[in-house]
Amino acid sequence: MIFINPDSRTNKDIPNLAVSYATTVYRSRVIDLNTMPDPGDRFYDEKENDYVLSVQSRNYGHARKIKEEILLKRPHASVRTLKGILDIQCCYPFVTFDETLSIDIPFSDHLPFPDYSLLDSFQIFLAKWQSGEWYYPLMTSIGCPFQCTYCMSRRRVYKTRSVDNCIDELRHAQVKWDIKKFCIMDDCFNLKKGRVLEFAAKTKPLNLEWICSNGLRADLFDEEIADAIRASGCRHLSFGAESASDRILERIQKGETLAQIEKAVSIAKPRFDSVNGFFIFGLPGTTMEDDIENLCFILKHGINAHLSVYVPFDKGLQIDAIFNKTSSGVPLDNDLSSQSNRMLRWAEWIGIRESSLPAIFKYMCRLIFLIKYRPGLLPKQFLTIMRMVYAKSLSSN
Ligand code: SF4
Repeated sequence: MIFINPDSRTNKDIPNLAVSYATTVYRSRVIDLNTMPDPGDRFYDEKENDYVLSVQSRNYGHARKIKEEILLKRPHASVRTLKGILDIQCCYPFVTFDETLSIDIPFSDHLPFPDYSLLDSFQIFLAKWQSGEWYYPLMTSIGCPFQCTYCMSRRRVYKTRSVDNCIDELRHAQVKWDIKKFCIMDDCFNLKKGRVLEFAAKTKPLNLEWICSNGLRADLFDEEIADAIRASGCRHLSFGAESASDRILERIQKGETLAQIEKAVSIAKPRFDSVNGFFIFGLPGTTMEDDIENLCFILKHGINAHLSVYVPFDKGLQIDAIFNKTSSGVPLDNDLSSQSNRMLRWAEWIGIRESSLPAIFKYMCRLIFLIKYRPGLLPKQFLTIMRMVYAKSLSSN
């Protein structure tokens, strides 16, 4: 049996954890086309006739194509999709089609530590982990009881590993692979304050630098947590802000107010090397002014921002009615979320303050796909938005 991780065209620095756990259980190798896309047809070289694809919404189209190609060349091959252990990673659901290989081990201390050396891209990870360029991924919990309407992780049973088990994994990775840094991959890491404080206290002796790459909840963040995780080596964190409008926050059932987000940012900014906010353009009910307010919020607070575009679909990859109304129809096999996943690293955005038409032009080029998914947002209007943002950023200086 051989596993395949299709190309998501994003998060090249993060291994697919579902396939990594599964392959550790089965002691099988993984062809990792995400971190090592070339040669893209190397699965043909395998003697195996039993393939298992680990499919996420963001690589659905590529996974389908791989399956077709395998069956074209080897009509008698078995091509299944992986089900189990994790159902979501980085907010993208794992999905299946046709036959599945199901693994029933619950997310708990019973899971083995992932053996990433089974990925054929492992040497890339190893070199990057050892140089400290990439972060070793650590999933301490999955699930989230909150109900943010745009989020695939919503209303899922919250399951944890013990803190001691997580620390053991980090020690193991330190000894075996000489990792220098790690990142927390949880859907909602700061759901339980006591657990975060325990984690911080037990992580500190490892002397590893770490980050919270997924969004923390601003309403559950306070000075005590900030001081504890900073002291234990956390250098960078993110908040799932989503919108700078209370009206939109209410509509998406975020369960947070703008004041709470601002407070969390003000606690984090002086303590951490960088603070990031996740924002989503085009949430249901937003106007262009709301989206502009997001940009202004980012400027005002001088944070990095991770922007994405709202692309509604359900776990079965059904595009919802709102999107159908405003788009001219996006084919299902078109990797919806990988389109939206061209998130924009907003470190560059801050540069717009000091400059500059070229910076704005660069920014606009990177936002071109926004126009694609908001057909009502024509280039002329887009230029108007940018002029407004630019003017507002100058006046706030
Ligand atoms: S709190 Fe975070 S993980 Fe939970 S539903 Fe909301 S966005 Fe998703």
